[in-house]
Amino acid sequence: MDKKECIRRAEQVLMHTYGRYQVVLDHGEGVYLYDTDGKKYLDFSAGIAVFALGYGDEKYNEAVKAQVDKLLHTSNYYYNEPTTFAAEKLVKASGLDRVFFTNSGTEAVEGAIKLARKYYYKKHGVADSQIIAMEHSFHGRSMGALSVTGTTKYRTAFEPLIGGAVFASFNDFESIKEKVNEKTAAIIMETVQGEGGIYPADREFLQKVRALCDEKGILLILDEIQCGMGRTGTMYAFQQYGVKPDIMTTAKALGCGVPVGAFVATDEVAAAFEPGDHGTTYGGNPFVTNAVSVVFDRFEELNLTAHVKEVGAYLYEKLGAFAQKHSDKIVAHRGIGLMQGLEFKEPVKEIINRAMEKNLILIAAGANIIRFIPPLVIEKEHVDEMLAILEKSI
Ligand SMILES: *Cc1c(COP(=O)(O)O)cnc(C)c1O
Repeated sequence: MDKKECIRRAEQVLMHTYGRYQVVLDHGEGVYLYDTDGKKYLDFSAGIAVFALGYGDEKYNEAVKAQVDKLLHTSNYYYNEPTTFAAEKLVKASGLDRVFFTNSGTEAVEGAIKLARKYYYKKHGVADSQIIAMEHSFHGRSMGALSVTGTTKYRTAFEPLIGGAVFASFNDFESIKEKVNEKTAAIIMETVQGEGGIYPADREFLQKVRALCDEKGILLILDEIQCGMGRTGTMYAFQQYGVKPDIMTTAKALGCGVPVGAFVATDEVAAAFEPGDHGTTYGGNPFVTNAVSVVFDRFEELNLTAHVKEVGAYLYEKLGAFAQKHSDKIVAHRGIGLMQGLEFKEPVKEIINRAMEKNLILIAAGANIIRFIPPLVIEKEHVDEMLAILEKSI
């Protein structure tokens, strides 16, 4: 089908919830995407931090295909091997104890909130608890996740949301401390804020929050949906901070293309859930968990976290120099590993459009920030290729 025709037809039947780029993607290969006209793009967005392995990883694709013929779905009333193996690997990678698989990131956040509330309820015998969330955070679009998402424009039209969410400033320990009271069940934050503009937590800040949680018996929920799965150079970003959450959420690159997320908790916290407290029909079915299992295998075989450290450091150096060279246009450079951002003085939409014309896919985080979240398998030469196009696009 002609590209214009496809876009016209899509616009007639899909809800207008996105300002989509005028491109019709067709297939992918490694770190490149191709549109229906055969035009090739270097991909620095990875389907929003999803395609960690790049496109067409043979072992991943073979495993996904094999599971299609074997068993796609059973419901969670029965056991199956892929779900067991995937949970074991996720437990090992996170250092936490128990897993609940979901279909998406937002559902992982929903589950984490429910678990925190149930834990509080069991401990205090009352249900009226609060969760402290961060300004400029992003946790998803369902009602519970939206309630702890600190961007007013995403929330206003949908209120009332779930009650008991209060907001503090990210990287400002005192602002959190002020909000803590006897009703506080949990503090939720991204270890590295993604949509909000690529802001890593400060080390001292996160350690103080952890200590505060320990002191007051409050649960720390770290949302690693975007920054987890190797993106910052360790399997999970919190592993670089010398802290451990009580509950962690993960999704995006967990499935590398199949829709799956999870929330993972310590034994003590997970024990608050009893049979009947939470459930899902599709969540963690053998189709998606077999993919998760292979994703973990591929991370090990490719030694991906070490690769991210190396290429991430290269990207950091190059983007840092780029930001300096263009300090008339760029105000800041932030990030860890292969999760970095350049903050411009002006909105970046036009830059992203021009880059796309020149065969580079980038995405924004907020109006003024370009977010660099490529497949984790990119090489230094791809960083150079990206920068050459970016140079011509600004
Ligand atoms: C993307 C994202 C979510 C939501 O995940 P979905 O799979 O889109 O529901 C939640 N938290 C963070 C940090 C994210 O980046």
